[in-house]
Amino acid sequence: MSSASMHSEQSSVTVLGLGPMGRALAGAFLDAGLRTTVWNRTPGRDRELVGRGAVGARSAEEAVAASGLTVVCVVNYDAADAILRRDAVAGALKGRTVVNLTADTPNRARDAADWAAGHGIRYLDGAIMTPTTTIGTPAAVFLHCGPAELYREHRPVLDALGGTHTHLGEEIGRAAAYDIALLDIFWTAMAGYAHALAVARAEGVTARELAPFAKGIGAILPPLFEETAAEADDGSFSGEGNPLTSAVSSMAHIVHTSEAHGIDAGVMRAAEGMARRAIGRGHGADGFIRIAEVLGRG
Ligand code: NDP
Repeated sequence: MSSASMHSEQSSVTVLGLGPMGRALAGAFLDAGLRTTVWNRTPGRDRELVGRGAVGARSAEEAVAASGLTVVCVVNYDAADAILRRDAVAGALKGRTVVNLTADTPNRARDAADWAAGHGIRYLDGAIMTPTTTIGTPAAVFLHCGPAELYREHRPVLDALGGTHTHLGEEIGRAAAYDIALLDIFWTAMAGYAHALAVARAEGVTARELAPFAKGIGAILPPLFEETAAEADDGSFSGEGNPLTSAVSSMAHIVHTSEAHGIDAGVMRAAEGMARRAIGRGHGADGFIRIAEVLGRG
């Protein structure tokens, strides 16, 4: 590649998908001074970005033809496929690079990469782990995977999004695998929090009253993730200080209190059930993370 085309590669980018996240990504590229071309299925979502200097393409094929690198960020891979897998778009992408920052499953990422390879399209997959407000700031977190060389080539443009960028390896399902695992933590924690607010309210405790202590509970988790990672990987589940038998007793109190108020305790019943299953298999003296190993047995 000539230095002139290398320069234009690194100074232009296309964003497909202008939901809240796509708009944030395009906005950060613009702020970084990149020539940014944008397109969205529903017209009109590019208005503010065009006002800030983005080029509003009339079609997805026109958009991808404008840059060597296209970043895709739509609701899921059904939507991404609906955009990318049209002949005109696939043809225009030939020899160019797609970085797919859409969230979906590892298998969908693998399927997308196979499709891209079959159409001469260079493909990287990725996941965004922080909200739109972080994009363009040091707080943004991006995970990437796919060919290391290709990642290195486009890293200067991706850096315009701010934050930290981590290349997790060449296996194309890896960013989605991290995304799924991390969102598993997030959504089960949020479900627990929503449930806790309902139970607290039934007991006459407001969310504002609970908040300082809820933050304290949240703060217990990060060190626990670090301490138990080795246990999970090495298969040694010390229950010293907090065995599963003690954990299920505490969980049962939550179930009883919820149900006494007529509040569904399904999420906690499911968690308690997992713990009881591990105890039933003889692991009552082990720590809570034994559950991961028991679940993994199927
Ligand atoms: P959405 O997840 O709601 O995605 C909206 C975008 O998807 C719009 O551009 C919409 O186009 C497009 N879309 C939906 N269906 C189709 C379709 N069938 N064909 C073409 N385009 C379609 O909003 P976000 O922008 O917030 O999220 C985009 C991605 O970023 C998601 O995968 C999300 O999980 C991820 N993400 C979002 C975060 C956030 O804070 N918002 C945080 C981290 C990751 P149209 O306008 O035409 O409907």
